[in-house]
Amino acid sequence: MIIRPKEEMKKHTSFKIGGPAECYVVPENFNELSKLLNFLKNERIITYIIGNGTNLLVGDKGIAGCVIEIGPKLSKITVKGTRITAEAGATLAQVAEIAEQKGLSGLEPLSGIPGTVGGAVVMNAGAYDCEMKDVVESVTAMTRTGESLEYGVEKLGFGYRTSSIEAKKLIVTKVVFNLTPDNKNEIKKRMAEYKVMREKKQPLEYPSAGSIFKRPEKHYAGVLISDCNFAGKNINDAEVSRKHCGFIINKGNATAKDVTRLIELIQNAVLAFYGILLEPEIKMWGKFDK
Ligand SMILES: Cc1cc2nc3c(=O)[nH]c(=O)nc-3n(C[C@H](O)[C@H](O)[C@H](O)COP(=O)(O)OP(=O)(O)OC[C@H]3O[C@@H](n4cnc5c(N)ncnc54)[C@H](O)[C@@H]3O)c2cc1C
Repeated sequence: MIIRPKEEMKKHTSFKIGGPAECYVVPENFNELSKLLNFLKNERIITYIIGNGTNLLVGDKGIAGCVIEIGPKLSKITVKGTRITAEAGATLAQVAEIAEQKGLSGLEPLSGIPGTVGGAVVMNAGAYDCEMKDVVESVTAMTRTGESLEYGVEKLGFGYRTSSIEAKKLIVTKVVFNLTPDNKNEIKKRMAEYKVMREKKQPLEYPSAGSIFKRPEKHYAGVLISDCNFAGKNINDAEVSRKHCGFIINKGNATAKDVTRLIELIQNAVLAFYGILLEPEIKMWGKFDK
């Protein structure tokens, strides 16, 4: 397997932010992953799992511990009838493309989410009134001692942008989607429409981690932030997107400290104006400067 000491995490996050991980490992297969997990547990080394790094803010001082990548090396996809089985490192876009080719519908609204299938299950990622829980039938996951278990969706505690996978410290290795047969051209058309909607609304031309905050009940975080006059507000190169105030973008050399300071300013303003505490959707890893 590939082992890289002192690996800059900014190379692995869509935000292009993050200091070095003590150790960054890319297993080539699940057998290696199982052995690696056992070793790290026995050595009591703190372990993080990264997919495509699209929902992460890593501290400027980096991460003490080991980051394991479940990405392109573990991304085989197979199709049987209406079921698609994807290894956790496959991207949602790859699975959606295969679904389209096979005339299987259900993934179109999720096809533009830039994460892996593993990351998307953990986050119960969703868009346009569809969430992972609506299309996933079962998940195979490894325990921190390398044992593999299968879980039906009802066992995964799916909620808004959350699942019980993280709390159980499981590592997703395989996901089975059960989809609905449909006309290929119709599926293709819908995927293209969702892509246009995304491009119109989101600042995809800049590095970001998607929506910074979860949607508060009965509100949209982006609207609350915009109403507090935060559009375009910046701390150094971290800026609240004018196109979508729910996004913080990296205009060049933003640091995790810049982003966390901006997050705090936004939270304070929205709390003072609306009495609503915005909860971050992104995961924050490692050591942050104060
Ligand atoms: C431009 C942009 C647009 C976005 N739009 C959306 C959207 O519309 N809807 C939405 O929900 N999200 C959106 N996101 C956020 C993000 O893409 C999703 O949350 C995605 O599911 C994260 O997947 P990932 O592979 O990048 O996970 P990562 O960012 O690598 O990790 C996220 C979390 O999942 C865990 N994880 C990852 N893989 C595994 C695994 N195999 N086993 C166990 N744990 C794992 C990590 O430990 C971490 O806790 C967007 C992000 C960007 C940058």
